[in-house]
Amino acid sequence: MSWLFGGTRGRESTDLQARIGELEAEILRGERRLSEIVTAFSEPVWVLDSELRPTHWNAPLVALSRKQALAKEDLRDLGVHAWFREPEIRDALATTISSGQSVKIQFEADGRFYELSCSPFDRGVIAVFHDITQLKRAEQSRLDMVVNVSHELRTPLTAIKGFTDTLIDDLATGRIEDCRQHAAVIARNVDRLLELVQDVLQVSILESGEMPLQLRNVSTRAVTEAALQSLEQVSRHSGHRIVTDYAVAELQADPARVEQVIVNLVGNALRYVPADGGEIRIRWVEDAGRVVLRVEDNGPGISEELKPRIFERFFRGDLGRSRDSGGTGLGLSIVKHIMIRHGGTVSIESQQGSGAAFICRF
Ligand code: ADP
Repeated sequence: MSWLFGGTRGRESTDLQARIGELEAEILRGERRLSEIVTAFSEPVWVLDSELRPTHWNAPLVALSRKQALAKEDLRDLGVHAWFREPEIRDALATTISSGQSVKIQFEADGRFYELSCSPFDRGVIAVFHDITQLKRAEQSRLDMVVNVSHELRTPLTAIKGFTDTLIDDLATGRIEDCRQHAAVIARNVDRLLELVQDVLQVSILESGEMPLQLRNVSTRAVTEAALQSLEQVSRHSGHRIVTDYAVAELQADPARVEQVIVNLVGNALRYVPADGGEIRIRWVEDAGRVVLRVEDNGPGISEELKPRIFERFFRGDLGRSRDSGGTGLGLSIVKHIMIRHGGTVSIESQQGSGAAFICRF
């Protein structure tokens, strides 16, 4: 009987060994599967055990933590602190493990913003990093826009309020001769408000990317003449000489937007170039197979330090001059966005004191 008993035990132990072998193979398969899943993510992913020891990670995580130079074995030995300096990352990972709840935090590293989502996983934690820099910048940009618009609206609104009170006084005291002058100030500031609201709307629509372009064959002469006609009120009395050159006859573009580009660039030249001897050239030329619009003037030009800033929303080079002459600080920003929407660029060639040339490449 004993051999029979012994035989059963022998079989049991073989079965047990086989089962252990199967389990080990299963664990190994699971490990490999987890590694494959973590590697497949394009976002940085990190798996840590209950002692906060990293067990799995992918290349984006190694890049994010700037540990590319280290071998895999060395990475395994590093503690959380050595991977990331930010204490809030360690806290989020530890809280996820201790609470068994998912934790989300946002943090900034090297000028970029991230959201870190930590979820409990197999007594440890799995952490995914999302780069939310674009989102943050868009949020900040919307906030800046609201602040800037409110600031810009305040000046004309304050003038309208003040002069309306004065006008009421004028009427009450019978100073009729002052009424016309004060009403004219109100009218001027209402025009300014309208111009501002129109420009803000344009910038918002262009920046949101929601405006589909109406692309068609556009005659360079027709679109330039249409733009000059809308500027006629200003240009007729300004005394500037305006010269046109149509070396290119046509381009594929949205005519209304191209007209806006010319109005803004020529409008600026009329504003900043002294009328006496002032010359503005609008030239349609070809350069390396691309249609190029050049708006050149012989005015004061733009200094090196202003160049990188003048396409920013609400940026004015010369506050007093721009505001006095009706500038909103949005004209060049609108030009930039229209060019980007056309897959083109706008650049400046200028030296202070020797005129400015705005170059729009379609
Ligand atoms: P705005 O003219 O309403 O101030 P813009 O965005 O059109 O706003 O222009 C931004 C700034 O660029 C202006 O305030 C001015 O300082 C400068 N600028 C634009 N065009 C010219 C030009 N032709 N000559 C000199 N400076 C210019």
